[in-house]
Amino acid sequence: MSQNALDKYPKTTIAQLFDMSIKPYLCWQNFQTVFSLSPLRKRVRIDIEKYPAYVVYCFLGHASLKNLSAEEMATLQTLACMVYMLPDIDPDIRISRNNLMYRAFQSSSSLEPMLIHYFTDNLVNLFQQISNSTECMLNIATFISRKTSLGLAVAVCLMWSIIFRSNGSDVEIHQFHDLSELIGILSTLRIEDVEPRMFYNLMHSIGSLLHLTLCNKWQELFRAHGYPANYFRLRTQDGRMLHAWVEKAGHYYRGHTKLIGRRIRIVATKVMGSLQYLESNSSEWCLICHSRSTYGVCVLGQINNRFDCSKV
Ligand SMILES: [Zn+2]
Repeated sequence: MSQNALDKYPKTTIAQLFDMSIKPYLCWQNFQTVFSLSPLRKRVRIDIEKYPAYVVYCFLGHASLKNLSAEEMATLQTLACMVYMLPDIDPDIRISRNNLMYRAFQSSSSLEPMLIHYFTDNLVNLFQQISNSTECMLNIATFISRKTSLGLAVAVCLMWSIIFRSNGSDVEIHQFHDLSELIGILSTLRIEDVEPRMFYNLMHSIGSLLHLTLCNKWQELFRAHGYPANYFRLRTQDGRMLHAWVEKAGHYYRGHTKLIGRRIRIVATKVMGSLQYLESNSSEWCLICHSRSTYGVCVLGQINNRFDCSKV
């Protein structure tokens, strides 16, 4: 590439991007420590402090093409998530950052449940160190779920971790669950006891979980890895009970005039729209996505309009 062509790319380094972050854990020192203590360090032989961010992202992404260990992949995913949460200042940096995230979840075709648990647990631990990070987790889960089957598997487990955490349950093994378990968890929850922002995240996670499991385009691959069919269907009776719960929650927040109350009502309406679609079509999954039809709109997918976590 000519010097003129190179000059048009931003010179901003990752350290400078971290300087713009207001989230305490998201700092250059932590990024550097994660990188330097990992065996991944031996794969990326450049001084990540000196090069522009987009160059470092390219080098890190390129490392994913090598036969990485699970530990190296987990480190790559941690680094990709950390930079994904940084302020979004330049389109070229954003593109290379998104490519890095894609590659971090592309480098394995295995959906082996304990591998998924390991990757999910690694990310949950990362997000727990970052304040107000559930929105970031939702945003990242949405992004990776669209790109690769591994990303979708981790995203589903992240959604379940948010849902289990809403009633104080600890998750020992991050894994897929039968969707009927949703009803059991939600029935123990007192809506008035959940902080509104957390409640919004819970409602969004429920809608996303329905979308990711009932529209799963890689279902055959998951089944080949031993995932049972009931992970990808919502029984009619469970759908009706879930609808009643979401309706009750929307009703509880009907008088809230603050922004968060409106956001909860909007996301509750989308979840009810998904459930009504299933009920009116007497279906336990998304007919549009299952038939790979190019006609018609996937109603369940409307929950996942992306929002930028750096602005939350
Ligand atoms: Zn769909």
